[in-house]
Amino acid sequence: MIIYNSLSRNKEEFIPINPPHVGLYVCGPTVYGDPHLGHARPAITFDLLFRYLKYLKYKVRYVRNITDVGHLEADADSGEDKIGKKARLEQVEPMEVVQYYTNRYHEMMSRLNVLPPSIEPHASGHIIEQIIMVKQILKAGYAYESNGSVYFDVDKYDKKHHYGKLSGRKTEDLISNTRELDGQHEKRNPFDFAIWKKADPSHIMRWPSEWSEGFPGWHLECSAMSYKYLGENFDIHGGGMDLLFPHHECEIAQSVAACGHEAVKYWMHNNMITVNGQKMGKSLGNFINLEDFFSGNNSLLTAAYSPMTVRFFILQAHYRSTLDFSNDALQAAEKGLKRLMTGIKSLEKITTGKTSGFDTDKIIASTFEALNDDLNSPIAIAFLFDGIRSVNSLLDKKDTLTAEDLQKFKKFYHTVVFDVLGLLDEDEKGNGKVTSQLVDFILNIRNEAKSKKDFATSDKIRDELKNMGIVIKDGKEGTVWEWE
Ligand code: ZN
Repeated sequence: MIIYNSLSRNKEEFIPINPPHVGLYVCGPTVYGDPHLGHARPAITFDLLFRYLKYLKYKVRYVRNITDVGHLEADADSGEDKIGKKARLEQVEPMEVVQYYTNRYHEMMSRLNVLPPSIEPHASGHIIEQIIMVKQILKAGYAYESNGSVYFDVDKYDKKHHYGKLSGRKTEDLISNTRELDGQHEKRNPFDFAIWKKADPSHIMRWPSEWSEGFPGWHLECSAMSYKYLGENFDIHGGGMDLLFPHHECEIAQSVAACGHEAVKYWMHNNMITVNGQKMGKSLGNFINLEDFFSGNNSLLTAAYSPMTVRFFILQAHYRSTLDFSNDALQAAEKGLKRLMTGIKSLEKITTGKTSGFDTDKIIASTFEALNDDLNSPIAIAFLFDGIRSVNSLLDKKDTLTAEDLQKFKKFYHTVVFDVLGLLDEDEKGNGKVTSQLVDFILNIRNEAKSKKDFATSDKIRDELKNMGIVIKDGKEGTVWEWE
């Protein structure tokens, strides 16, 4: 029997990724719950990378997986499958859980304007590839079978290679950190990890193999799927810092054992989000679902925040720094984003002249320098605000930009803000449109009041709108309004 997949086909048959192509793999979600703030950060971080590489004219093959099998509770080799448990509790098929939360994930990502990846493989759709990799690791002598399960032999691997090179952990330290969990007696060493697990009778998602009816270990899917779609050497592997150990450490060991060398050139990890200084966790009850942000329906939230406010809030921190959620920080992000969008609109009001009132090239160069420096989005955004401040001072002083500089500056703002940072002007769509219609409606009432010389009402409307951040200006051609 010929099994057709990249693990068995000849190297020549693989569609190669040569420069200017970039192979990018990012660990995607385990789809058993509604997407929360913790999902937004890696998605937006690597969306920025994807967008920026494309802007730099690279062709990117971006693979972001869906984990739908083998991810057990406690992220270890024991306990119930996270998806299996949800299916049991809700009395549905595991794949119904997977489909529902995959759809929810896509919906939330689309609202956050996160581009879909080039390929989104499911772990359950790549069991054959994972079985082939287990065989390769066994053949290389870095795994052993025990009671129908196959475990990676960390000790043996560590003698020849270096287990812990990414996380800086040593195997000696791992022993003391390993708790007595089921399956431990099958292992030669407590820190060995399963690459194939025999399914116990209650386990629903299972596949036949020569070792047992079972399922692949959680870490194996990313090694097998990155190999299949990006080859045995690829450029960038990303994910959250929480995946660095053991998930990515195990991925390195699996790839080295199966292929004889490492697969990944650069590892990128986004840092975690804390909530009022505390780590986010189910047990702490401080998970905030993305839907809650958009509706404001959560006791930790004092208001609803738009998808772009959440996106801007995340981009305002460097991806390697921790990011602390608070209502104050989100309100500041909301204001900042409005200021940025108003600034972009005011570019349309600048008059052109023979000279330029400030150096546009310097702002453009500094912004790209920041993005080139390990995607330093907060510094890039700070330069965008510098530019907006200069534009506003031009408006006040009635100074000018040359037509050439103005054109360049407009293109720069549209490219960086909309294409690279992936922000949208929410005033232009959705709720923004409703806001516009409501404000216009209120202004009509105000005009009626004015025509009846009811200045108390007209002034009250003006003041109330100002409290909401909406400034109105009465002119010869009628009344116009803008965000403060
Ligand atoms: Zn992964």
